[in-house]
Amino acid sequence: MQYDPNNVFAKIMRGELPCDKVYEDDQVIAFHDTDPKAPVHILVLPKGRYISFDDFSAHGSPGEITAFFQVVGTIARDFGVAETGYRLIANHKTAAGQEVDHFHLHILGGRPLGPMITPAN
Ligand code: AMP
Repeated sequence: MQYDPNNVFAKIMRGELPCDKVYEDDQVIAFHDTDPKAPVHILVLPKGRYISFDDFSAHGSPGEITAFFQVVGTIARDFGVAETGYRLIANHKTAAGQEVDHFHLHILGGRPLGPMITPAN
């Protein structure tokens, strides 16, 4: 699968679409999810063209990977959920529910989050 430069998060990073940004540096951007599933629901993205966690973990440089995860931890602390508890989700491919094919990590918190996944029928 090729990276699609017209995915919605690529458009946000190019400034073609708005976002409710909480953090940005030269390697990482983070913004509020437009359909929040918890009081805190923030998406954190490396700016490099990585389709999913699989791509990022295989092809991201050590510097990119370190910078990314340091920002995730900082945001969780800044938004108070490191204290109260939070969940990180990275969906890889459609079986996991990935909708946007630019790697992003969900930070979810601010309330009890319930079971990790919905049991299969
Ligand atoms: P995933 O299913 O892991 O690919 O998650 C994609 C997430 O992106 C969903 O939670 C959407 O609500 C969220 N989303 C889609 N479009 C936007 C947008 N323009 N700004 C912020 N979040 C978005």
